[in-house]
Order: sequence, then structure tokens, then C-alpha cells
Amino acid sequence: MDKCTIKITILGAGISGLATAFWLNKDGFDLTVLESKNEPGGSMITRYEDGFLIDYGPNSGLETTPLIGQIVEEIGLKDEMIYAAEKANKRYILKNDQLHALPTSPGAFLKTKLFSTKAKLRLLAEPFVVKSKEGYYQSISEFVKRRLGKEFLDYAINPFVAGVFAGDPDRLSVKSAFPKLYRLEELYGGLFKGLVLGAKERKTRAEQSKQSARMFSFETGMQSFPRSIAAKLGDKIKYNCHVEKVVKSENNFKVLYNHNSKSEEIISDVVLSTVPAYQAASIFDDKENPLFDHLNKIYYPPVKVLYLGFRKASVGRPLDGFGFLIPEKENKAFLGAIWSSTIFPFRARDDLAAFTLFIGGARSPELLDNENEKLVHNVIEEFKKIMNINSDPIFIKKMLWPKAIPQYSIGYIEHEKYFQMFEMSNPGIFLSGNYRGGISVGDCIKNSELTYKKICKHIT
Ligand SMILES: Cc1cc2nc3c(=O)[nH]c(=O)nc-3n(C[C@H](O)[C@H](O)[C@H](O)COP(=O)(O)OP(=O)(O)OC[C@H]3O[C@@H](n4cnc5c(N)ncnc54)[C@H](O)[C@@H]3O)c2cc1C
Repeated sequence: MDKCTIKITILGAGISGLATAFWLNKDGFDLTVLESKNEPGGSMITRYEDGFLIDYGPNSGLETTPLIGQIVEEIGLKDEMIYAAEKANKRYILKNDQLHALPTSPGAFLKTKLFSTKAKLRLLAEPFVVKSKEGYYQSISEFVKRRLGKEFLDYAINPFVAGVFAGDPDRLSVKSAFPKLYRLEELYGGLFKGLVLGAKERKTRAEQSKQSARMFSFETGMQSFPRSIAAKLGDKIKYNCHVEKVVKSENNFKVLYNHNSKSEEIISDVVLSTVPAYQAASIFDDKENPLFDHLNKIYYPPVKVLYLGFRKASVGRPLDGFGFLIPEKENKAFLGAIWSSTIFPFRARDDLAAFTLFIGGARSPELLDNENEKLVHNVIEEFKKIMNINSDPIFIKKMLWPKAIPQYSIGYIEHEKYFQMFEMSNPGIFLSGNYRGGISVGDCIKNSELTYKKICKHIT
């Protein structure tokens, strides 16, 4: 089959769309990527202002798959790739207004004041805890409370879920949000047993666990990644093209989009959607199938990113880690902070320190309803107190993500099953993006290769 005669249209030039386009382009397919904004990257937005390099979306990625290195190498970005400073391995959790390092060794675990002796002893029971009958419909909270105890949920998992999903562990499905954790119980009967035995399996797949994978970014920020893939694709990407509808005809699809206020269309053999679920809902809106409902039910809470620059001399505590996360029980107005210029120096001048704070999420979306300057003021004051900072920030930037990250809520399995079924009964349409198969940059890259293979299988 002559691949260059197969027309493929990809909706969305975030990392999911671009990485899939990258694989398809190498094969010589006739490709068009339609993107509604005037730049590539989607959630990956980097800006450079007053000497500060600001990532408003992902600050880094984890190199959980060799596919990341492969793409980076082939788009000529290898020399720009940077890894997190060694000290960023240390992560803090706030408890009683104090920052406690998350223990990374058995000795540190025994000594930490983050967990009580009772909670530490409770962990010893984990290998003997039996599987739950709830199966797919368990929340992360239920799973963790049962296996590891309530204190571990409150002071390790609750803040962790806020850090990854801006999510609420009571509402997220353990099976869909943390499938690997869920699998450890399913396959090996427990987390500790699974961590030891599962290591062999990962080695065979050449994958890195999220705990051991290296954290990467680029000298000029995360958006360099999608920008460089986009440069490789050249004029196959069309910007300012807002896709409105995909209409099925007998042998192909009509993709209708708005380009600079003009209606245009592309006839395509294959359509891959990588736009967020709520956008895909209106594009594929068809009253005869329940796709609209499945896509539209996926909850995306708002998140406000607050980027702060301070004089280093005014920061009264050592900057010796990745940052800190705040358990819900601590009752603060924000979710946590990344010490951006500690993880990747050159994010700010040597005498300055840059931090990225996160507000809202599924834990407290109401904070961002009709919010005013008071919220930001309160967050800055809380942050200064925790960090022992004795002056005001010299640089403040904010960005609101009204619909930030898809929440893999309890019952998500129903959406997952439906999306699979929909693709089978609508050959030629593929649904991808961070609402399927994981929200991290690494997961989006892994999924891009799977999607590419699915498309190739369909075509041949
Ligand atoms: C604030 C924040 C912080 C994060 N931090 C991290 C982190 O540190 N590490 C990590 O691994 N992950 C992080 N993530 C998650 C990760 O960045 C995203 O899950 C991932 O980038 C999503 O990529 P995507 O291509 O699937 O979707 P998107 O990036 O959302 O891309 C979708 C694209 O589709 C376009 N589009 C939408 N509608 C239309 C339409 N109708 N027509 C045409 N185009 C359309 C959009 O403009 C966009 O460019 C973070 C996310 C956010 C929001």
C-alpha cells in the first residue's frame, strides 16, 4: 500500500498529537495536524520574562520510557535536554507548619516525624492484607487505607495525588488513576511483594518505574519539546484551526474547522482526536451514540499556577529539594510548591529563587470561583511563612487553567471500555489524549506509540 495516499488528520498539537504525528510522519503518511491555538504544545507553555523561565504547565517529565530519548534524539534536541539536580530527589510534606522530608530509606523512615510509630507499625501488616472485593470501583483512599492505613493516606498519598492530578483521592479510581499500583495487588497480592517482583518485569519491558525514572526538561523549558517536534513536521501543522465537527461518510471522514473565521474542511481516511475530552464531545456529538456523555462526564477541575521570584538572600531555609506538598488536613489555601530554580538552575538568575505554586484542583475548586487578589495574597503569605521568607516576591506571574487535568474518577472504567468499543465500531476514528492511559508527559508519549501502532494496524 502506498502510504502517502492515506490521508490522516490529527486534531490537537499538544504532546499527544505531536508525538503520534512524529511516528506517522516517519512512515510517510499524508498528515495534517489541526491546532486551534497559534503555537504547539497544548498544556506545555513556557515563557521567558525578566530573566525568569516560566513553565505554566508541566515543569518536567519523567523519563519512564526510552521512546522519549528516541524522539528527543531524532528531533535534534538532545544537547538541550537537562536532568534535575541531584538534590531535587528530596521531597517535603507539610505537617503542623513544618516541612518533613519524605523518607527514602528504611532508616529515614524509622526516624521521620511525618508518621507516628503506630502508622509505621501498620505498614508491616501490608503483605498480609487481603484483596478487596470492590475491584474496579475502589477509590484511591479506600485502597490505601485498607493496605497501608489512614495516616499514610493523609500524609503521603493525599498530597501526592494533589501533586500529580491536582486530584482528590476520595474521588479518583485506583484502577484507572494508578493502574500500576492496582496491578501490584491484583498480580502479586500486595504492594511490597509487587514492588520487588515487578522490578524484573519492568526490566524486561525496558521501562523505568516512576520512582526511579530521571526527571528531565530542556534548557529553554518544556515547550521546546513540542516546538521541536512541530519544526520537524513543518507545514503539516496548521495553527488557528479550531475543529468543529467530524462527519462520517461512506468511505471517509469530513473534518470541518474554522480557520481565521473561515469555514474549511479536510477529507480524511483516518481521524485521530487528541483534544481534551470536553472538546472531543462537541466534535463527535452524535445523538445516536453515548460518546458525548462519556466524554462530557470527565471532570477537569480548575488549577491556578502562581509563579513567584524572590531574592535568594531573603529565603530563610535551605533550598535542598524538589519542593513540598500539602496534605488536605493541613488546611492551607494551596496544594504545594515546586522549587523551580533548585530543580533546574538557570530558571532564574543566580541571586534569585523561583517557585511554582498550585492552587485549587479537585480539592478546592471553589477557591477559584469569582476569586480575587485576596486569594493570591493569602497564598503568598502562607508560602512565605512555611519557607521562612522575610520579604515580598520581586516577580509574580499567574495563569488560570479553567479545565486543567482530567480526573480518572471512580467508575472511569466505563468510559475506558466505551472508548475502546467506539473505536471498534467506528473504524478510522481514534481517540487519544491525556484522558486515556495516563496524564503524565511520559504516559502521553507511551500512548502516542500505541496509537500509532493501532492506526497502522487499521490501515493495513
Ligand atoms: C498546570 C499543569 C501542570 C502539569 N504538570 C505536569 C508535570 O509536571 N509533569 C507531567 O508529566 N505532566 C504534567 N501535567 C500534565 C501534562 O502536561 C498533560 O497531561 C499533557 O501535556 C497533555 O497533553 P495532550 O496533548 O494530551 O493534551 P493538551 O496538552 O491539552 O493538548 C490538546 C491540544 O488540542 C488543542 N485543541 C483543543 N480543542 C481543539 C479544537 N477544537 N480544534 C483544534 N485543536 C484543539 C489544544 O489547543 C491543545 O493544543 C500538567 C498539566 C497541567 C495543566
